[in-house]
Amino acid sequence: MIYKNYPMVSRVVFGRGSFNQLDEILAPKRNGRNAPFIFYVDDVFKGNHWLTSRITLSYKDKIIYVPTKEEPKTSQIDKYVEEIILEYSELPSGIIGIGGGIVMDIAKAVSLMLTNKGESKDYQGWDLIKNPAIYHVGVPTISGTGAEVSRTTILTGPDRKLGINSDYTPFDQVILDPELTKDVPKDQWFYTGMDCFVHCVESLDGTFLNAFSQSYGEKAFDLCKEIFLGGHLTKEESQDKLMMASWHGGMSIAYSQVGVAHALSYGLSYLLGVKHGIGNCIVFDHLEDYYPEGVAMFKEMKTKHNIKLPLGICSDLDEDQIDIMINVALSLDPLWENAIGKNWKTKITREKLMALYKKM
Ligand code: NAD
Ligand code: ZN
Repeated sequence: MIYKNYPMVSRVVFGRGSFNQLDEILAPKRNGRNAPFIFYVDDVFKGNHWLTSRITLSYKDKIIYVPTKEEPKTSQIDKYVEEIILEYSELPSGIIGIGGGIVMDIAKAVSLMLTNKGESKDYQGWDLIKNPAIYHVGVPTISGTGAEVSRTTILTGPDRKLGINSDYTPFDQVILDPELTKDVPKDQWFYTGMDCFVHCVESLDGTFLNAFSQSYGEKAFDLCKEIFLGGHLTKEESQDKLMMASWHGGMSIAYSQVGVAHALSYGLSYLLGVKHGIGNCIVFDHLEDYYPEGVAMFKEMKTKHNIKLPLGICSDLDEDQIDIMINVALSLDPLWENAIGKNWKTKITREKLMALYKKM
């Protein structure tokens, strides 16, 4: 097919307090007493009665608290899947991810790997998944990644950091309750929010852009401007709008791609374990040659919110280490093709990337 035929999230609820409906939404999806709902919840919510009291456990349902210091690994997904298979006689009725991009990606990946044989590393790439996933639900508690709407789950495997991109990856149900984001620390709010901003810039400046992506990208871009530079919104309005910006930003890249910032940020993440949001910020700060207007606006936002990014994170690296990051970045063909065009290999050299990494 020349034109891609993309799946979307089939159901979505939006509203402050909509998380109260979780039980009601899940109940019809239960496949019996031996088929549990498994809830992956960011461990920042451990002991948080306000949130966890709204998760009702029946029969063999279970909450698994997920540490989020590090981004998800394929080995971690395989372990979660094995635990479920060993503990239960039937496949779960559903997998629910409550948290940021990390936890949502874990929920997506586990739901896929319960019905697809083998190891998750073998499915990193595009359209390698054969069977539909278990019913899976995403509940974002921080806004920006677009993981709630995307057709990928990004995992670090033994050889690379790459998503499992497939038609079965998107959630069957998403609950968008902006109130859940009320306690996100300010720096993290900025980093994850900037992931959305960077998605918009990379999509809108990319060669893959079409009217579908543009319509979502422009909306998300305007919302980000209002949230991060506007200054007239209440906290609640800002939370509501960032949740929708994330959604639109994610939709915008569904039919296009990200670009230079993401390619370089994947390198940082692979070698140094730098997390996605802050990694994008560290990289984007140096990309004025590629995205002059977007980077100028980003610097304005950074100043306005008094965000101090780490400096010199690559200064102690030797050239072999930087080479590893360059290899990761250059392996992401579609990102470069979107950013630069089909002839990107004639324009992007290892020396250029080496110079950029050395600035960070
Ligand atoms: P995250 O999941 O790393 O969470 C960041 C921090 O915020 C964590 O410490 C977490 O505990 C905390 N947090 C989350 N919600 C909170 C709340 N309500 N109150 C207080 N603290 C809260 O952050 P992220 O930026 O959302 O996600 C990054 C991950 O998403 C990366 O692994 C990245 O690869 C992935 N990602 C996936 C996609 C996709 O399409 N699948 C897109 C972009 C990024
Ligand atoms: Zn991103």
